[in-house]
Amino acid sequence: MASSPPAPAPAEILRRNRILSSKLYLDVPSSKAPVVYSPTYDIAFMGMEKLHPFDSAKWGRICKYLTKEGHLQKTRVVEPLEASKEDLLVVHTEAYLNSLKSSFRVAAIVEVPPVAFVPNWVVQRKLLHPFRKQVGGSILSAKLALERGWAINVGGGFHHCSAEEGGGFCAYADISLCIQFAFVRLNISRVMIIDLDAHQGNGHEKDFANDERVYILDMYNAGIYPFDFAAKRYIDQKVELASGTKTDEYLEQLDKALEVAKSRFQPQLIVYNAGTDILDGDPLGRLKITPEGVVIRDEKVFRFAKDQNIPLLMLTSGEALLLIFLQFVPPSYGSDDVLL
Ligand SMILES: [Zn+2]
Repeated sequence: MASSPPAPAPAEILRRNRILSSKLYLDVPSSKAPVVYSPTYDIAFMGMEKLHPFDSAKWGRICKYLTKEGHLQKTRVVEPLEASKEDLLVVHTEAYLNSLKSSFRVAAIVEVPPVAFVPNWVVQRKLLHPFRKQVGGSILSAKLALERGWAINVGGGFHHCSAEEGGGFCAYADISLCIQFAFVRLNISRVMIIDLDAHQGNGHEKDFANDERVYILDMYNAGIYPFDFAAKRYIDQKVELASGTKTDEYLEQLDKALEVAKSRFQPQLIVYNAGTDILDGDPLGRLKITPEGVVIRDEKVFRFAKDQNIPLLMLTSGEALLLIFLQFVPPSYGSDDVLL
């Protein structure tokens, strides 16, 4: 006699219900491009914009450039909703979300000690709200990728944050969240994460430890943060680079890695974390990739997806902003009159 499959655990039912009742999966009309962005992504925090407008509005600048150059009409950009607490609870624990009500905790996550002394309502409004908006963008972008073949969230990619622990400027696990939403709402069961940020993506690695539905290819500088040896065990395919790796060698390694990935796993969605901290001169990434090399890298990943007809979601990776915080937090932080 055939036995019926085991009933899902209560936690799994709760997660599923949260995903099904979420408002983040907006209907996006075909007149819009699969490019997701909101002006609220940009962190205007403690006068940073005035000090260094070029960097502190990174995501806005990308969109401005694209519209100015005629690649994208402003009206075609998709504006996401902010991820609500219920949305975040799909992956995060209540205890973790509560911990973000402490500015001290957030300061540790973003690795900027002065944030500890900023009132939490300010931290929520100026820092965590933009992050939650970007999380909403990542989740919506997975849906768009399935509908259109590709989608870009001009933000997100907080790959150091896992369900229970933030770090490295990443407060919410948007990669884990967008994949969990995709499993339930998009009826897929195989996802490949291609993480080409200069740092190891230890957040999603911990979240999908031993989850056979997710294949992780991570290529990173092994000589820099986060040195998460426990999380390394969960990488299906790791390519460890040395500081100072140059463009030719980098691209050669990427070609080989994509070939291997192709032979090992057939995903229904690719989540591409496209950190640009591999650029030559980035003090955190410590690799020596030229701007042209970064473009070729992105083209290779897009071609990899297109050749196999696999929807691709690109995230711009979060932590570049860390640099801005470290360099440009003014000494008068914490005083309301310097807030933008
Ligand atoms: Zn990075």
